[in-house]
Amino acid sequence: MKLLEYQAKELFSKYAIPIQKGIVIETKDGAAEKIRSAGLQFPVVIKAQVQIGGRGKAGGVKFADTVEEAADLCGQMLGMDIRGFTARELLLVEKKEIAKEWYLSIMLDRYTKSPLLIFSPLGGMDIEETARTRADKIAKVPIDPLRGVQDYVISYAMDKTGADKQYQSQLKEMAEKLYKLFFDYYTMLVEINPLAIDENGSLIALDGKVEVDDNALALLPDMSACRDKLQEDPQVVEARRVNFLFIPVEEAGDIGVMSNGSGMLMSCIDLITKKGMQIHAALDLGGGATAERIAEAVRIMLSRPRIKTVFICIFGGITRCDEVARGAVIAMSQNAALGKQLILRMEGTNKDEAAKIVAASELPITVAEGIPNSVEAIYRLHRG
Ligand code: GDP
Ligand code: MN
Repeated sequence: MKLLEYQAKELFSKYAIPIQKGIVIETKDGAAEKIRSAGLQFPVVIKAQVQIGGRGKAGGVKFADTVEEAADLCGQMLGMDIRGFTARELLLVEKKEIAKEWYLSIMLDRYTKSPLLIFSPLGGMDIEETARTRADKIAKVPIDPLRGVQDYVISYAMDKTGADKQYQSQLKEMAEKLYKLFFDYYTMLVEINPLAIDENGSLIALDGKVEVDDNALALLPDMSACRDKLQEDPQVVEARRVNFLFIPVEEAGDIGVMSNGSGMLMSCIDLITKKGMQIHAALDLGGGATAERIAEAVRIMLSRPRIKTVFICIFGGITRCDEVARGAVIAMSQNAALGKQLILRMEGTNKDEAAKIVAASELPITVAEGIPNSVEAIYRLHRG
C-alpha cells in the first residue's frame, strides 16, 4: 500500500523527521477560509495528493503568493488527473527556500536480502535521469539489520557521491529515523525526494513516499484509516472483503486466471504469456472454497469488462472439484448475457462429478485436461 504524501509525512513527524507546516484541502468550498485561518506563511506550495511520483512534472505541484491565488489553484487542482490518479486532496505547505536537493531512501532489497540505503546529492525531479547518466552520484549501501545505520554507511555514501561532509551527522540522524520507520511500519520503501538543505543549512523532507507491506496491515491499526483514503482497484477491494486476493496484471490483457494457490497461478500466467497472450488479472482462491465462494470469485473476474476468457485451474485436494464446478456454473449462468468463456481445468477430488455438472449446464464452459491443453484451448478461443 502506497501512502499519500501527507500520510507519509504524518509518519515522518512521528519520527521527528522535519517537514513543512501545512494543511490538507479536500473541497473548493471554504478553501480560502481554511487557508486563511491556518496562518501559513506565504508563498505556499500546493501539491496534488496521488499515489504516484512525478507530480512536479505533471503539473501537480504549484506555488502561490496569496490566499486568493492559493484558493484559486485549489479549485483548479482538485479533481485533476495525474497519470490515471485523481487528486481528491491537496496538501498546502509553506514554501521552503532551498539550497540543495538531495535524495534518500531505504528499500527492501531482494538481491542482497537486506534493507538498502540509496543516497544521492543530486536529488529532486530528475533523479531517474541521474540514476541513468550519473552512476557516480548514486550510492547504494546495504544495511546490516543487526547493526543498523552505522557511521560507515553514511560516510561511504557521501564519499562515493562527493556530497558535502559537513552534513554528515545530520544525514546520519535522518537515515536513522527513516530506518526506524522502515522497520516499525513493515515498509517496502521509505523515500525522501527531495531531502532539501534549507537556507540555514538544515535538512528537511520536502516530499515523502512510504510503501507499507499489505501483508502487515493487520499489525498496523493506524494504517487502516489511511487505506480508506486511497484509490484502490474496485475488484481488489471487493475480493479482499471476501478474503480473496485479486491481482490486476496488465491493463491491455483479456484473460483472467484463477487458481487455488499462488504457485500454480504463476505457472499458468507464465504458460499463457509464453503463447503471446496477455493476462488482465489473476485471483487466488486459497484452499477449501465452497461453491458459493467460487461463484463470488468468478463473478468478480467476469465483472472486469476487458476479460473475455476466464481460466480456472484447480488441483482439488481440500478444494473439491464438484464445488468448483457448481460455483462456476452459478456465476456463468447469472452472467450469461456477458457472453464470456470459461476454461476449467480440474484435477483431484470429485473430478468426474465436476465434469458432469459442467456438461449438464450447457453453458460456454470448456473442461480441459491438464494445463498445456487448457492453454491450447484458450489460444484457440483468442486466435481464431
Ligand atoms: P514529485 O514531483 O511528485 O516528486 O513532487 P515533489 O514534492 O518532490 O515536488 C517536486 C519539486 O517541486 C521538488 O523537487 C522541488 O524542486 C519543488 N518543490 C516542492 N516543494 C518545494 C518547496 O517547499 N520549496 C521549493 N523551493 N521547491 C519545492
Ligand atoms: Mn518528490
